[in-house]
Amino acid sequence: MTRPRILILGGGFAGVAAARRLERRLGPGEADLTLVTPQDYELYLPLLPQVAAGVLTPQSVAVSLRRILRRTRIVPGTVLGVDPARRRAVVRLITGDQVLERYDLVLLAAGSVTRSFAIPGVPDHARGMKTLAEAVSVRDHVLAQLDLAAATEDEAERRARLTFVVVGGGYAGTETAAYLQRLVRSASRRYPNLDPDLVDWHLVDLAPRLMPELGERLGERALRVLRRRGIEVGLGVSVSEASAEEVVLTDGRRLPCRTLLWTAGVAASPLVSSLDAATVRGRLTVTTELTVPGLDGVFAVGDAAAVPDLAVGGDAVCPPTAQHALRQGRVAGENLAAALRGRPLRPYRHHDLGLVVDLGGRGSVARPLGVPLSGFVALSVARGYHLLALPTLVARTRVLTNWLLHALAGDDFVRTGLLARQEHTVRALEHTEGYLSPQDVKAATASD
Ligand SMILES: Cc1cc2nc3c(=O)[nH]c(=O)nc-3n(C[C@H](O)[C@H](O)[C@H](O)COP(=O)(O)OP(=O)(O)OC[C@H]3O[C@@H](n4cnc5c(N)ncnc54)[C@H](O)[C@@H]3O)c2cc1C
Repeated sequence: MTRPRILILGGGFAGVAAARRLERRLGPGEADLTLVTPQDYELYLPLLPQVAAGVLTPQSVAVSLRRILRRTRIVPGTVLGVDPARRRAVVRLITGDQVLERYDLVLLAAGSVTRSFAIPGVPDHARGMKTLAEAVSVRDHVLAQLDLAAATEDEAERRARLTFVVVGGGYAGTETAAYLQRLVRSASRRYPNLDPDLVDWHLVDLAPRLMPELGERLGERALRVLRRRGIEVGLGVSVSEASAEEVVLTDGRRLPCRTLLWTAGVAASPLVSSLDAATVRGRLTVTTELTVPGLDGVFAVGDAAAVPDLAVGGDAVCPPTAQHALRQGRVAGENLAAALRGRPLRPYRHHDLGLVVDLGGRGSVARPLGVPLSGFVALSVARGYHLLALPTLVARTRVLTNWLLHALAGDDFVRTGLLARQEHTVRALEHTEGYLSPQDVKAATASD
């Protein structure tokens, strides 16, 4: 007799939480647990802007799966498609070889990718902030602009290299702009022939307000903090065109620059489109119990799924946040175990705990449980929240030590050069290509 197979697709907040819960709920003889994910770590994305700024080392936000999971088999690869009729997933291993993984129950938890619009030049010139490779490559790129600006004798090139454009006024874009501007400001003091006043940061968003989730007062405060630091915030504005040497804004401004950082929202993993299933704005439609209607044995959670938000009611779906993904993962773990034992499934319900935005220094803002906070208190709450949310004691200690070291020793300005010759686009660093259509998936599983 072979044991039933539970397959988890994606090793992020939701997938790892589900695997941990399944390891606790099921005895070793009850099911084989398999996790397919390209990396061997769980990435704590909310701290990526601090990795880009060099406040934290990349290792401190990448928690080894081998430390978290005890008996789950980990397959290092990317799932290109799922065939619910034959209960197979098509996996491209990190070697490039393609294999099939059989399952009895599957959880789709492949998260999301940076949403880039079909704006001319953006897919080829914009950099994202969703993977460790992107954070490291952005850091290298930004520091390289300072080195190159200091080395050139061409005044126009120097100005362009010292102009940085961030698109997206949500927490990812705002934190990225805030942390990198602080890095560049402190780095520019180390370049005797660079005038810090030449450094120009722009943060733009089509929305009329920054981070509307924060409420009007805190959003305004964050805006004031950024403007006081010299970041030019453009609201109601986006990018109409980009090239290697220039960004054109929708208000007609042309900004000669070499850096375009794109954090204007996320789109569900392209894996979703391999299933012939209903979606809500690209996210897989799921029931309150996290099952995919019409597809037997398929569950979905996190950024890739449109989970009904019972705490809000109506047609509301949960926002794509780590807060929800983690908790949905745990409920999915419970429900997969229940489904295996033929027991009733429980619905997912969670009251949002609010938002923390670490802008570095005393400019932070937070709205935990609806209470508006700013300044040092907000910074402490934000950092305390992240420390509690990190999955292991080792990760918490690493992050805390990094913060202390940074507070004492300040910034460092070293490029690793590791990704220097790699394509830096979202397409290349978030691996958004090569996914299969439902027909291609059927063809790939037919021979098994
Ligand atoms: C810069 C930034 C800051 C953020 N700050 C906050 C914050 O302060 N608070 C908050 O609540 N949320 C925040 N978020 C959002 C939060 O990180 C996401 O909502 C959360 O990561 C979603 O969890 P998930 O498990 O669905 O996806 P992820 O955590 O992204 O995990 C997806 C996993 O699936 C893997 N994967 C992808 N495709 C495949 C495939 N085809 N096959 C196999 N594996 C695959 C990925 O490698 C990854 O391991 C932030 C996001 C960013 C980018």
